[in-house]
Amino acid sequence: MNILLIGAQGSGKGTQAELLAERLHLKSLASGDLLRDAIAHGTPLGQQARPYVERGDLVPDDLVLGLILDATRQLDDEHGIILDGFPRNIPQAQSLDARLEALGQPIAAAVYLDVPREQLLDRLSGRYICRLHGHVWNLKTKPPRVAGVCDLDGSELYQRSDDQPEKIARRLDIFFSETIRLLDYYEAQGKLLRVDGIGEIARVNESIVVGIDGIFAVKGLSAPVAPRTESMQYTAG
Ligand code: AMP
Repeated sequence: MNILLIGAQGSGKGTQAELLAERLHLKSLASGDLLRDAIAHGTPLGQQARPYVERGDLVPDDLVLGLILDATRQLDDEHGIILDGFPRNIPQAQSLDARLEALGQPIAAAVYLDVPREQLLDRLSGRYICRLHGHVWNLKTKPPRVAGVCDLDGSELYQRSDDQPEKIARRLDIFFSETIRLLDYYEAQGKLLRVDGIGEIARVNESIVVGIDGIFAVKGLSAPVAPRTESMQYTAG
């Protein structure tokens, strides 16, 4: 089963992707993380992508597609992926569909985390990332126990360079003018799930899980979702 999360920067999609990956036994793939990793390692792709990421612009489709399609090679029958941050526009969605259809593992559900722009601005300015594994914390919504230190691995927290005010505004403009068109695209496929992204992380997660169950029920497929604390198996893809 493959799921994707659509949400503006600061909508909490990274956090929800981690939770869903654990709960549904999916591999989480975040295009932003893959790009930052390529940039940090100075790969040819990273060098090409760097100026776009630094400006807060979308990296050209062919570069991102290469990264993501490579990662889908690891897909097998049992385990699916949860995509975070990809696709970001219609051509990316079409390429992804073609690729996953060819593998016989289409997207099962596209989850939109709905958070108003004013809230996003507020949340992003409080966002901090850990140096070691990229765990995301937020001074307002999900503060670490000790200021400046990741609860999970003890590494230092830092603010991303593209989380500065003018870059945040640029990224949100792109989301609300371009990426938002994906809602119609996936709605037409009967795969769109809109979830209110405001409120507690656990409650948002529960809404997503219940909604995914609903999409599966409408399609007459077995529910993929296990109770929160148990390991699970799913049968639909
Ligand atoms: P994110 O961590 O998802 O906020 O992504 C950080 C930056 O990586 C974005 O502002 C873009 O510059 C780039 N990026 C991530 N995913 C994509 C994508 N699917 N298409 C184009 N650029 C992307």
